Amino acid sequence: MKNVFEEIVKGKIPCDKVFENERILAFRDIAPQAPVHILIIPKKTIKNIEEMTEQDIPLLGEMLFVAKQIAEKEGVSEGFRLITNTGPDSGQLVPHLHFHLMGGRRLGSLG
Ligand code: AMP
Repeated sequence: MKNVFEEIVKGKIPCDKVFENERILAFRDIAPQAPVHILIIPKKTIKNIEEMTEQDIPLLGEMLFVAKQIAEKEGVSEGFRLITNTGPDSGQLVPHLHFHLMGGRRLGSLG
């Protein structure tokens, strides 16, 4: 499958951006599953958590801190979920690491 997130990082495909710095980009999911559904991705190409290395630890920590800040800004800091699908059994569709930040409704149990 074509890696749409790399195209978004390069600016070749538009996105509804909510955060950007030199390392991280966050934008609204095109098919939201909750009132707030934002994807947080590294600009660096990392396929998923399985492929992260020790060098990526600060980047992943920063992604979590960005998630917290976005949750506050979006008004869902009292209850939100962060999900990162990893590999085919998880249903990962886009082969570029991303956290789904979801909130704004009562979220069901994980299945
Ligand atoms: P995953 O199954 O974890 O790989 O999730 C990929 C997510 O990317 C899905 O929730 C899609 O709706 C979302 N998505 C795919 N293409 C785009 C796009 N161009 N802009 C925003 N979100 C997208």
